[in-house]
Amino acid sequence: MSSTVGQVIKCKAAVAWEAGKPLVIEEVEVAPPQAQEVRLKILYTSLCHTDVYFWEAKGQTPLFPRIFGHEAGGVVESVGEGVTDLAPGDHVLPVFTGECRECAHCKSPDSNMCDLLRINPDRGVMISDGKARFSKDGKPIYHFLGTSTFSQYTVVHVGCVAKINPSAPLDKACVISCGISTGYGACVNVAKPPKGSSVAVFGLGAVGLAAAEGARASGASRIIGVDLNASRFELAKQFGVTEFVNPADHKKPVQEVIAEMTNGGVDRSIECTGNVRAMISAFECVHDGWGVAVLVGVPSKDDEFKTHPMNFLNERTLKGTFYGNYKPRTDIPGVVEKYMNKELELEKFITHTVPFSEINKAFDYMLRGEGLRCIIKMDD
Ligand code: NAD
Ligand code: ZN
Repeated sequence: MSSTVGQVIKCKAAVAWEAGKPLVIEEVEVAPPQAQEVRLKILYTSLCHTDVYFWEAKGQTPLFPRIFGHEAGGVVESVGEGVTDLAPGDHVLPVFTGECRECAHCKSPDSNMCDLLRINPDRGVMISDGKARFSKDGKPIYHFLGTSTFSQYTVVHVGCVAKINPSAPLDKACVISCGISTGYGACVNVAKPPKGSSVAVFGLGAVGLAAAEGARASGASRIIGVDLNASRFELAKQFGVTEFVNPADHKKPVQEVIAEMTNGGVDRSIECTGNVRAMISAFECVHDGWGVAVLVGVPSKDDEFKTHPMNFLNERTLKGTFYGNYKPRTDIPGVVEKYMNKELELEKFITHTVPFSEINKAFDYMLRGEGLRCIIKMDD
């Protein structure tokens, strides 16, 4: 057993002191895990757009100083009281939404909205005692999404940790901990496109392209990619996207353009932008009678979704999902196996790698719309 068990660990973390300001690598203290918690050594993390929204804090509740990061892979360093299904050395993916295995949601095959551990971006402390496990010079630093993976060590509730195959390379598998499972699951678990169907994907970042990958795996015959950033279109071809629409190229609303392309609308649409207008378009572009739209993008806190009720009477369905409806502990080891069996490719989502000391570059790439996922190597 490592000598750090039960001790405060000092390590490097990228602290966001203020909204929108570059993260600062600081030495922080990470307290030992309490009951039902585990302390993880994070080896690789990547940046998802959700981190950027809460760091910018334009349409979200500001909470600073904070350690962001929720897409990562690591190893269990130590476990708190009562943790029986994880042990030091286990390879794990921390997940921003959890699975307590006791509540009605966890017992339902349909829901991953755990009563205890569902995503809560406004909470910056651990649920057991309302305290942060991170501090600097005795002052607490807030957590983010219960994961805070922009730190070499972090403390996470056991229900937010998926134990995975130790032979899976964590520098690739880390993207399963948020973006890829979210997009892929939104398609295969929620939209469920029938074979031969048409699917529109709004937003061709990693989440949207994982949804496209799910559409291809489901046998969709047309996958229409919608994005305002035309540089995404070339990249998207590798993910099975067959046609492209840039809303900026058209005078009429994009839902009308798509309806014309598809003789009345697509069979399924999946929104992965976080923009409420795109969410409305994604719903209004599905075919009446059977069309299903799935919202995945994280909206701003004051957004409102407005559409004519007749769209529902005309038998279109609107759904939304966190984490592609996957239950982190139960389902994610299987998604990792899909990667190991070469049914799911992760490498093509990874377009950049940076050392931890250059974590702010990952933010620059995302803000400029360059590439998909940027892996941050925590040891340098
Ligand atoms: P990303 O920035 O890499 O990709 C988003 C893409 O959407 C970009 O290419 C951008 O150009 C495009 N876009 C933005 N506004 C648009 C518009 N109005 N019309 C068309 N395209 C538009 O982001 P990502 O990391 O792939 O995340 C995508 C979204 O999914 C974000 O909103 C993120 O917060 C959300 N998300 C949700 C969950 C969940 O569980 N529901 C999990 C992870 C991420
Ligand atoms: Zn994410």
